[in-house]
Amino acid sequence: MAAKRKKTNWQYILIVVILAALAGGIILFLEYFWLQDEPSVLGPSITHRVIAPATAIDPNFLNQVKECFLPTAAAYGYALRITDGFRSLDEQEEVYNQGRTEDGHIVSWAPAGRSLHNYGFAVDVTDRWRGYNINWKRIGKIAAFCGLEQADDPHFEYRNGLVTDQFAAGTRPTPLILPCALMDERAKANQSLTLKDLKNCGAPKF
Ligand SMILES: [Zn+2]
Repeated sequence: MAAKRKKTNWQYILIVVILAALAGGIILFLEYFWLQDEPSVLGPSITHRVIAPATAIDPNFLNQVKECFLPTAAAYGYALRITDGFRSLDEQEEVYNQGRTEDGHIVSWAPAGRSLHNYGFAVDVTDRWRGYNINWKRIGKIAAFCGLEQADDPHFEYRNGLVTDQFAAGTRPTPLILPCALMDERAKANQSLTLKDLKNCGAPKF
């Protein structure tokens, strides 16, 4: 009697193992076809995953500009305003063509997809009163304090070591962190940063 029951248990275990293997096989089969489907949208020559293009400035990057970069510059007497933020690929093409196939001065060195404006990780700024006639080296130091990188005089971006191809492939840099919690408090309370605040936050001194 006992021997018979033991045999039945083994049969149950065998059935469970076979069912589990079948279920695993079905999942792998479905996953294979599901993953194969995606790139076919752009034809068989594209083998990597299709990444949806960025449609707006990155919120974390913008927050860093608004709560650190602009207010710190303001405390040092620079009334910076953003002249350009996110650009779609079409807008970038227009900007790139200016001075090349279209009339006007050359304003950008980057064709569509080659500017961090296209991924929402760049802003251009100017001084509200003095235009471009300001100390850009100082502005660069303020930007660096906020974790931003000055690519040329009025252009500030955040790539944190990533190359443009990585942005194009959908990789994004790790989120920025404010150098000082006080900055968020001041911004939320609609208060300006004072020079004393900046000293407490370890900002560069001029
Ligand atoms: Zn720019």
